[in-house]
Amino acid sequence: MKIIIVGSVAAGTSVAAKARRNDESAEIIVYEKGPDISYSICGIPYYLGNEVEDLSELIPRDKKWFEARYNVKMNINHEVTAIDPVNQTIRVTDLSNGAEVEETFDKLVLATGANVTIPGYVDSQMKNIFPVRTMEDTRHIDAFIQEADPKQAVIIGGGYIGMEIAEQFTHRGIKSIIIQRGSHIMSSFDPEISFRVQEHLQLNGVEVYTNEEVTAIHQDDSHLVHAVETKSGHRFNADIVILATGVRPNVTLAQQAGLQLGPTGAIQVDKHMRTSHENIYAVGDVAESYSSITRKPFYHPLGSTANKMGRIAGDVITGGELEFHGVLGTGIFRVFELAVGTTGLTEQAARNEGFDVEVLYNLKPARAEYLNGKELLIKAIADRKSGRLLGAQAIGTEGVDKRLDVLATALHFKANVEDLFHLDLAYAPPFSTTKDPVMYTGMALH
Ligand code: FAD
Repeated sequence: MKIIIVGSVAAGTSVAAKARRNDESAEIIVYEKGPDISYSICGIPYYLGNEVEDLSELIPRDKKWFEARYNVKMNINHEVTAIDPVNQTIRVTDLSNGAEVEETFDKLVLATGANVTIPGYVDSQMKNIFPVRTMEDTRHIDAFIQEADPKQAVIIGGGYIGMEIAEQFTHRGIKSIIIQRGSHIMSSFDPEISFRVQEHLQLNGVEVYTNEEVTAIHQDDSHLVHAVETKSGHRFNADIVILATGVRPNVTLAQQAGLQLGPTGAIQVDKHMRTSHENIYAVGDVAESYSSITRKPFYHPLGSTANKMGRIAGDVITGGELEFHGVLGTGIFRVFELAVGTTGLTEQAARNEGFDVEVLYNLKPARAEYLNGKELLIKAIADRKSGRLLGAQAIGTEGVDKRLDVLATALHFKANVEDLFHLDLAYAPPFSTTKDPVMYTGMALH
């Protein structure tokens, strides 16, 4: 069997690794248009802030390592330009010399990821405005910072990537200004959680402007950007501009091949990651997911999901039976001292779904106060009629990750709020309180 994988970061490499573990004889060929493979995109902000010293720490595996370890043919700097779904062939361009080849496949996996949305006001000649996505982007940003020593950054977009970059630029001595179109930053959280984050950013010297739409970017004759203008008439000076404007699934190949897209714009797949063509699969940021709570299509592009989808496709195409069970929408990030996480539905999303919503707040120390335990806020959302837990958000300076993962596990197993009280959670003063904050959430209804 000949398996071809297009794209080789989180999802594509997972496919290759799992397929090889299952099947020693399959011919596995990977095409990646960039020079790097299997790197940690998620670590990029920490390199830009010098928390990770060497970029190579984010790229632990190269072509040679991967080929030796998994016995696959790894073609870097090769772009797949077309798919012929009837004859099961692809066209590939070797970007190092322009040579084109045609290749047949028995199974094809699209792991082409997502692209940063580039707003219309950005022109390609602008030198100091950057998306953050690939290692190449990272090298460009880092080289510019080293060369130009920028003092002030404008970050367009107030999602988690914008927050992480603002934190890291601040550590690097670059003042950051975040511009957000909506009424609050982090639109995947409820506003009262976002406002706490906003306050914390401001305490740490980051300026945040909401309800602001960028209308123009001003550059000088040498195409250096120096200011960002918004609809309300604000003009922000900028030595560097970061586009944290969200991503879109990279569906160019899929569209050309006539594969079915879902309502979110990503490639529609079944629980085995199979597309509308029986021998073509899609995984990672290019593939549509679904909410395990509402069962509706959901585009939630994260590395955790990309890895999981890759493993499932790698298994299925080599005869396995793994299935994708959807996602809750769990996510977490750090911004200075705060950790902030969400899982399941927000209050607003639950209301939009027509649930009769019960909102439960609890503010408790994350561990014994006599050991300096700090406050942790949990907001849980439940269905009033059935008592079923629908979602939770947590924010605090410690213990957020642990509580969020317990709540995500409870959601996965369709727990009721009351069940949370009965969980037998670990307690000793350095770690928790006699009743853990998650258990308090379980006590809030009665
Ligand atoms: P990608 O990583 O986008 O890889 C797709 C690859 O396909 C690319 O290398 C591209 O060159 C290649 N390709 C595309 N088209 C072709 C073609 N025609 N021919 C050949 N090759 C092609 N997720 C988390 O879960 N936690 C985090 O903390 C987190 N932090 C993040 C921080 C940042 C700054 C960013 C940008 C993302 C972060 N993510 C995080 C998201 C995570 O990085 C992505 O979900 C993940 O990288 C998706 O992996 P993927 O393999 O599907 O796609």
